[in-house]
Amino acid sequence: MKENNVMEPQRETPVYDTVDVLVLGAGPAGWGAAVSAAREGAKTLLVEGSSDVGGVATTGLMSHWTGNTTGGIYEEIISRTHNVYGKNPKLNDQEMRKYIDHETMKTRALQMMREAGVKLLLNTMACEPYMEGKRLAGVFVENKSGRSLIRAKVSIDCTGDGDIAARAGAPYFKGRESDGAMQPMTLMVQVGGVDVERMEYVYAFEDSYEVPEGDIQKLARACIPAPAGHVLVYPSVFPGVVTLNMTNVTGMDGTNADDLTEAYIRCREQLPEIMEFLQKHVPGFENSFVLKSASQIGVRETRHFIGMKTITEQDILSARVFPDWAVANAHFNFDVHNITGAGLDETGCQKKFSQKKGYTIPYGCLVPQKVDGLLLAGRCISGTHLAHSNYRVMPICANMGQAAGIAAALCASGGIQPRELPAERLQERLTALGVRPE
Ligand SMILES: Cc1cc2nc3c(=O)[nH]c(=O)nc-3n(C[C@H](O)[C@H](O)[C@H](O)COP(=O)(O)OP(=O)(O)OC[C@H]3O[C@@H](n4cnc5c(N)ncnc54)[C@H](O)[C@@H]3O)c2cc1C
Repeated sequence: MKENNVMEPQRETPVYDTVDVLVLGAGPAGWGAAVSAAREGAKTLLVEGSSDVGGVATTGLMSHWTGNTTGGIYEEIISRTHNVYGKNPKLNDQEMRKYIDHETMKTRALQMMREAGVKLLLNTMACEPYMEGKRLAGVFVENKSGRSLIRAKVSIDCTGDGDIAARAGAPYFKGRESDGAMQPMTLMVQVGGVDVERMEYVYAFEDSYEVPEGDIQKLARACIPAPAGHVLVYPSVFPGVVTLNMTNVTGMDGTNADDLTEAYIRCREQLPEIMEFLQKHVPGFENSFVLKSASQIGVRETRHFIGMKTITEQDILSARVFPDWAVANAHFNFDVHNITGAGLDETGCQKKFSQKKGYTIPYGCLVPQKVDGLLLAGRCISGTHLAHSNYRVMPICANMGQAAGIAAALCASGGIQPRELPAERLQERLTALGVRPE
């Protein structure tokens, strides 16, 4: 036993439920996974640590769904959850569908889950794997009722960080291959009272514009202490409201509780300086105020699991169609934020990125090495640091969830392990649902 550790007394733990498919985390990936598994007829339980479903999309106060996929559950999600009441005259109808009304989204996500027959446990942390040999046979969870076990034929880790996959012994690395450095964290913020007719949105890192005292990005670097200091201001569906992606914490690990706590504190400390900069220097913000901040900090990057297959930046650049594809028609750029300060990392490219066709993600990226009974979906799948900066966006994560949910249901009904599932069986179901490489 390690020095300073204690041995917990043995205890009897109740079995809360036994299911076909257990989904851990209700972000875009977990949402897609749980609904899809349940629609395939699997008895499905979705466990979420916070009090809301949607993950970074809702509790992370995300501005919009960015990047794209066609033909999968992502399209259904935006068609069912977009705000039908608000209207931002600067956004066309197509753009309006991608901007998030968080409260509408939470309610409609719950509706989708209920309709599909997903059983939901909120405010419940997935804590420890329950192993039978090298097979994950269930997960210990903790909530208001105490500690219990959920037995499952197949579990899908959609916690973003892959908490249970890591504790089950699935191999992974963190961050950048060269040094393990991870992308910064950001607490998203909604600001009200903005005269949006007199300001400009700043969607991409390469974007800038002139305010009375000069270039807005140069001025922000001079006025806002690092590692914040880059201006990203997104529209919203509400009148006079914008979303700021401007707090920034570098050199922290989103799987470390002390780092996470410190990151929340630093982001909140940066906020008054960010607001003062906008109010003083940016036309349209004179009377603005902080409407709300996210209840969960946005963690961009932590663990990359090593799967049966690994997707790379070359696969993305060449829009590769893998024969064993599980996600099709995925589009985005390489979105690597500066790992040590404000702005974009030198390897990230947004506007300069060009790729005519979408790429695919092979099924093997969702299947971790060494552990059976387990699939991965969302930002923790098997890919390189640079590839991850592309597939981590929510549309792609939601469709990974769809693929993992269907695969898990097929494995559960067929009594096989995820690594034994022929990709063609998954593709048959996906194709029937309208997902296929174009
Ligand atoms: C600051 C920031 C800005 C971004 N901007 C955009 C953007 O504009 N557009 C876009 O499309 N994407 C954007 N992304 C990327 C995208 O939001 C995430 O990569 C995506 O949400 C990942 O989806 P996920 O389902 O894997 O994880 P998450 O969305 O992180 O969901 C994970 C869920 O699991 C739950 N959970 C975690 N651990 C446990 C546990 N142990 N037990 C139970 N539940 C647990 C969490 O509460 C959460 O609900 C951004 C990300 C960040 C951080």
